[in-house]
Amino acid sequence: MIRVGSGHDTHRLAEGYPLVLGGVAVRHTKGLVGHSDADAVLHAVTDALLGAAGLGDIGDAFPDTDPQWKGADSRIFLRAALERLNLKGWKPVNLDVTVFAQEPKLGPVKAAIRDSLAHLLSLPADCVNVKAKTGEKVGHIGRGEAIGAHAVVLIEKA
Ligand code: MG
Repeated sequence: MIRVGSGHDTHRLAEGYPLVLGGVAVRHTKGLVGHSDADAVLHAVTDALLGAAGLGDIGDAFPDTDPQWKGADSRIFLRAALERLNLKGWKPVNLDVTVFAQEPKLGPVKAAIRDSLAHLLSLPADCVNVKAKTGEKVGHIGRGEAIGAHAVVLIEKA
């Protein structure tokens, strides 16, 4: 049995915050603002996994009104989602992620983000793909006001 899920997330960029994408610290003058560490890539991946298994969304599981998630490492959310999937017999097959950022240039960190995601999902590196797109200098992404991420995941049950 196989299922597919998709996830999308956007966070605002501002000075004075660290930039973490897919669990990887990325050097930049700005970072993402959110209740947790605002890792838009991990949030999109977590939503894709929950969606594929019919388990709702990241907001249901980890409400941003809950003080225990303030500044949280988003790897916690991903691992918790994977546990929920495992309890129902699901495991990831492959993951495809697109990150939308005008700045910084993500080419140099794409492989590190892929390796981080592969490690978190216990998948071989060739079952995880990370693509980077700019916002073509238009809209909130293109003006460098935000970074977005889109994820598609396939899961299977034996
Ligand atoms: Mg988010």
